[in-house]
Amino acid sequence: MKKHIVIIGSGVAGLAAAVRLGAAGFKVTVVEANNYVGGKLTAQQMGNYRFDMGPSVFTLPDLIEDLTKVSKQDVKFEYLSLDKICNYFYEDGTRLTAYTDKEKFATEVATKLGETKESVYEQLKFSATAYELTAELFMEQSLHKLSNFLNLKTAKAILQIGKLKMGKTMNDVNRARFKNQKTVQLFNRFATYNGSNPYQAPAIINIIAHLEHNIGAFAPKGGMHDITMHLYNLSLKLGVEYKLNTRVQHIKTVNDTAVAVITSNGEIAADIIVSDADIKHVYTKLLDKKYYPTKILEQEKSLSALIFYWGIKKEFKELGLHNILFSANGEAEFKCVFGEKKPYHDPTTYINITSKVTPTDAPEGCENWFVMVNVPHNTSGEPVTYVKEMRKHIVAKINRLLKTDIEQYIEIEDVQDPYLIEQRTSSSGGSLYGNSSNNKYAAFLRHANHSSRIRNMYFCGGSVHPGGGIPLGLLSAKIVSEMIAEKN
Ligand SMILES: Cc1cc2nc3c(=O)[nH]c(=O)nc-3n(C[C@H](O)[C@H](O)[C@H](O)COP(=O)(O)OP(=O)(O)OC[C@H]3O[C@@H](n4cnc5c(N)ncnc54)[C@H](O)[C@@H]3O)c2cc1C
Repeated sequence: MKKHIVIIGSGVAGLAAAVRLGAAGFKVTVVEANNYVGGKLTAQQMGNYRFDMGPSVFTLPDLIEDLTKVSKQDVKFEYLSLDKICNYFYEDGTRLTAYTDKEKFATEVATKLGETKESVYEQLKFSATAYELTAELFMEQSLHKLSNFLNLKTAKAILQIGKLKMGKTMNDVNRARFKNQKTVQLFNRFATYNGSNPYQAPAIINIIAHLEHNIGAFAPKGGMHDITMHLYNLSLKLGVEYKLNTRVQHIKTVNDTAVAVITSNGEIAADIIVSDADIKHVYTKLLDKKYYPTKILEQEKSLSALIFYWGIKKEFKELGLHNILFSANGEAEFKCVFGEKKPYHDPTTYINITSKVTPTDAPEGCENWFVMVNVPHNTSGEPVTYVKEMRKHIVAKINRLLKTDIEQYIEIEDVQDPYLIEQRTSSSGGSLYGNSSNNKYAAFLRHANHSSRIRNMYFCGGSVHPGGGIPLGLLSAKIVSEMIAEKN
């Protein structure tokens, strides 16, 4: 008889695990607290505007292609290659476009910021080297399986790790390379792609720039939510069953073996349980207290976000799919958000407009703005109180840098903050990416993809190894599925 696997949560990693385990021949049931699938990777329609609610940056599409291949289903996932990665705006009026074409990007940085083109190439080479040396070792396999370290390839990679300037922070390396603080700010911002602080995160976090600048920047044709729907549809074709509106309240163990989930709609027996829910939620709310791994769960959490979803009845020609309006003082901003754990009054403001590539996402002559600033994760457990004040700062910033009066063009509005993110996804404090990577041991301090104390209990998703964000979430699902297939 087929073994029955229960997956808790239908975030992107839960969906990817459902596809892989369904394709491997297991009977799979996904139990999801919400009445929709996707977790953070969801969307909403407001009037004639469509909004992706969470992730907006799409890299490594091969990871999605791989899932299509594994599923053996004839369903296409369509996406575009972008020729512009991002438009950058600075307080002093400097504007710069990061092109995917390296020569064009280096020329732009040289012309607008006074750097040498060689320094840009060196930076991108450093990111590429970091990726080549570490991706397979730290991201594509379990760090908690000794045999993964006992091979020649790994030994070679470990010997070269000196090249990665492990004793230095991301900011140290970027400041040493570039003359202009604006260039440093541009490359430092990649730390926020996994919710970290470039003044604390190790230099290796520069690896993130490699994805967009060396491999490529992409956009799903129908918006980010296409990723969720594609994986969901593949899993349905493989016979995966979904129980929506069903919250897991307890994971039942017998003799340190996971045997069932107790849900808001009754008990479901399982041979194997895979949790895609935030690891802190699992240990504090779902498992017996005796299993609580204090050291791992008390690591610093990643950033959260405050997001406004605005239907804008105007077109801004100077904006593209991704746009960043930098804070006048990046260092003060990170100090405030990570040190004082408060939102900053002059926040780096990200504007994502999917209607630039998918015109049906907004009415003609209008745009769907996703306006996001980084804020600390919420430790109070209570609703945050700064939304109104931060909205004023954000509106002022947009008005200054885009020389507009944005308020008059906002015809529809919604907002999401760390409290709401936690309510909707059970992510600890509304953190976007699980733990931060603010120290060089962070990779080793994430929870493993299996439990060392509970048999048949596995974990995937942004709060466990290898980390947060869609690509790493997809890799966690791959690691978990391979571990399960190997043992069963
Ligand atoms: C605003 C925002 C912007 C982001 N930007 C990007 C980006 O540009 N690029 C990128 O790659 N990543 C980005 N991220 C991060 C990315 O969204 C996450 O890393 C990823 O989606 C997490 O997926 P996951 O599989 O861990 O599950 P989650 O999305 O966290 O979903 C977990 C699911 O489990 C369910 N669940 C939890 N507990 C239970 C329970 N007890 N019973 C039943 N169900 C339960 C939840 O309801 C939820 O559906 C962003 C996130 C946010 C919020």
